[in-house]
Amino acid sequence: MCPRCKCEQFTIKRGFYRRPSDDKKVQRYFCKACKIGFSQQTTSIDYRQRKRWFNQSCFFTLCSGVSQRRAAYMFQVVPRTIARRVKKFGEICEKNLQKYRESRSKVKEVECDEMESFIHSKLKPVTIPVAVEKKTRKVLAVSIGNIGAKSCLKGLALKKYGKRPSERLKALKTLAQALQTCVASEARFSSDKCPLYPKLIRDFFPNATHFTCKGARGAVIGLGEIKKTVFDPIFTLNHTCAMFRDNLKTLSRRTWATAKRKDRLLLLLYIYAWFHNLWLDRKKVKPRLEVFAP
Ligand SMILES: [Zn+2]
Repeated sequence: MCPRCKCEQFTIKRGFYRRPSDDKKVQRYFCKACKIGFSQQTTSIDYRQRKRWFNQSCFFTLCSGVSQRRAAYMFQVVPRTIARRVKKFGEICEKNLQKYRESRSKVKEVECDEMESFIHSKLKPVTIPVAVEKKTRKVLAVSIGNIGAKSCLKGLALKKYGKRPSERLKALKTLAQALQTCVASEARFSSDKCPLYPKLIRDFFPNATHFTCKGARGAVIGLGEIKKTVFDPIFTLNHTCAMFRDNLKTLSRRTWATAKRKDRLLLLLYIYAWFHNLWLDRKKVKPRLEVFAP
């Protein structure tokens, strides 16, 4: 398929080349409509990579609570290679999630809430809104935004890093916008009692119903997601957030493998979200990172 016009009828085969890194024969094509040449590799996830043998295991490792440096050590590559893979995989997973939202049937029950983490230091916290489908536990969308430091850290944060405008509403709006493609108009939303949610849901989904529940204390110290109550109305979401925390090293509690950049943390979130969705279907299809084609 031609990468520019996305059409197959004008493409013809035009020879092949032997890839030096692993000596594989790669088919070349030519699109007669756009007059461009391309190959099998152009749309592949390992385009212009030389160490392509560890891509799939790298994807698994990054989503299994391993830090990037340790992953680099495990695969005997330099940390920069892993950082590049994070960028590449993140971009693929972002597109995959988007295509998944567009292609699937409309969701009727959604649970949404925010996780908190930080960039570099606890003085620079970020909020991570997540939306999951109640029935299947699949992650529908994630986003990220800066927020101000809380209570006792407030003064110190202001002194050290100056004023950080809160991007909470913006992050929530990005999430709501993403959800619009896959959520039915009469859907049922569940969340905690955050005062920002009712208006947002009314704005983006005027016909939806919104159910709120009171937040509860965490059952385990340092693990705020799994609640102490007997019945947690947004258990699916809290369980998914707990899995994010457990499987992404940068999100785990009391870690020193902290995120350094907000955009890269978002890419890691996309990678995990996509991995999570693949993992839930593991009995049907073996999880593999590929360009998603519905
Ligand atoms: Zn073309």
